[in-house]
Amino acid sequence: MKIHNFSAGPCILPQEVFTKTAEAVLNFNNSGLSILEISHRSKDFVAVMEEARDLALELLNLKGKGYQALFLQGGASMEFLRIPYNFLKQNGKAAYLDTGTWANNAIKEAKAFGETLVIASSKEANYSFIPKDYSIPTDVDYFHCTSNNTIYGTQIKEFKSSSVPLICDMSSDIFSRTLDFSKFDVIYAGAQKNMGPAGVTLVVIKEELLGKTNRAIPNILNYQVHIAKESMYNTPAVSAIYTSLLTLQWLKKLGGVQAIESKNQAKADLLYQEIDRNPLFKGTAAVEDRSNMNATFLLQNDAAHKEQFDALWKAAGISGINGHRSVGGYRASMYNALPIESVQVLVDVMKELEKKLK
Ligand SMILES: *Cc1c(COP(=O)(O)O)cnc(C)c1O
Repeated sequence: MKIHNFSAGPCILPQEVFTKTAEAVLNFNNSGLSILEISHRSKDFVAVMEEARDLALELLNLKGKGYQALFLQGGASMEFLRIPYNFLKQNGKAAYLDTGTWANNAIKEAKAFGETLVIASSKEANYSFIPKDYSIPTDVDYFHCTSNNTIYGTQIKEFKSSSVPLICDMSSDIFSRTLDFSKFDVIYAGAQKNMGPAGVTLVVIKEELLGKTNRAIPNILNYQVHIAKESMYNTPAVSAIYTSLLTLQWLKKLGGVQAIESKNQAKADLLYQEIDRNPLFKGTAAVEDRSNMNATFLLQNDAAHKEQFDALWKAAGISGINGHRSVGGYRASMYNALPIESVQVLVDVMKELEKKLK
């Protein structure tokens, strides 16, 4: 049976990426070696790393604008720590927007380094909306936000301008929509939400911002060291980077971020229309802040209908739509590689439940 994978991450990737990865596991580039066994210093893999770094910048329209792309390990969670290490000055301050669990984890790491201001939060409303009524202080070393809140299904649609460096965790919506990415000074994203398999994180940095903290930074945490070593300070996640490159190539072939954005919009429209139309369901995020990547919703009457709904979507081959363990309900993640046909299957199941209960 065809499985429709709505998992929030690790997530669906394009079928051709799976096929090409499988080929490379057996014989990478006709080298007679597997991508799992080649040296990261081999000519063939160095070329993969160079192309991946270059293509990431190209797709974000950041080439030739003073940015560097790195493929690092430790997940987005490691960047929660690397960011203050590299950008929060001694006796400095940082400002954070608290829009959910991941934003909060980033705040916790920064607090170990210095004064960390939470300038707005929607915690009281269980993170069901994006705070907008705030201004970014001008006396901070940077402002950090989370573009898409994977767990709560909210997404920042408009980014405020600021004179201070803007740092954004884009783990769950990188490469999904067009933005003026040059507004951001650092963008980072764990690969496993929209770019590749788990095990690698893309970090895009405006280079001129580095080296200003007067802090002794351990090499593994130091972005300048990773840039100087061309993202090979230590052994990179060779196979995860290769698969990420294949996904970026797929995206470029498709027409880039602009082309995928309209597909993602169509998928989100299809599902949210049904959530709003169907009297058995309701969305949990504020309408104007709804994420195009992760749609969170509830059954109006969970106790009465959950068993039946769960049986229906499982029978339809749907996988991965249970809400995050911290919030419950349902979450349909519609990352780049998810076809609209899969969203239609989910919508049909929601309609079927309604019919059955008539
Ligand atoms: C999943 C996620 C993270 C954590 O990523 P790891 O790679 O597991 O550390 C951070 N931020 C956002 C927005 C996420 O969705």
